[in-house]
Amino acid sequence: MKFLTCKERMEKIRKIKDEAKKPIECKSCGMEISRTAKTCPYCGELASGEKVAQAGKAMIFFGLGFIGVIGLVAFGLIIFAIIFGNV
Ligand SMILES: [Zn+2]
Repeated sequence: MKFLTCKERMEKIRKIKDEAKKPIECKSCGMEISRTAKTCPYCGELASGEKVAQAGKAMIFFGLGFIGVIGLVAFGLIIFAIIFGNV
């Protein structure tokens, strides 16, 4: 393993900092927007990070709803079996 000199280390830190400051491209209009911006100042579109988080939330709600429906159907079948199973 190669040890970095002090200068190389500084260079690396600077690069990481530059990367973090670099603007991101708006998915909707293609304009460069700040990484910290929640919405695009040009078209008002939500910044990509926010969008992904919202999509994740939507997926969770969809998943929970799906499980809820399956649970209700299963519950109904069990009740049905209890009521009509012993005839
Ligand atoms: Zn935009």
